[in-house]
Amino acid sequence: MANHCSYCDTRRPAPTPNYPHGTRMMVIEDQWCEFCEKCGNDSNFSLTNAETGETATLAEVYDLIT
Ligand SMILES: [Zn+2]
Repeated sequence: MANHCSYCDTRRPAPTPNYPHGTRMMVIEDQWCEFCEKCGNDSNFSLTNAETGETATLAEVYDLIT
């Protein structure tokens, strides 16, 4: 998969120390989720746990599952 943020639709986001490839990828509910650092920390793209109602940013979820 080419580095492509699914959230802001940026192709090849600039690499950062935390995102050396420009994006991070994880699988959520059988779907690929690819995001750049900006979107990973953007509360607009937070995920909600359906059971607990808690929300976490993409970057926080990534840190939890990897
Ligand atoms: Zn993005």
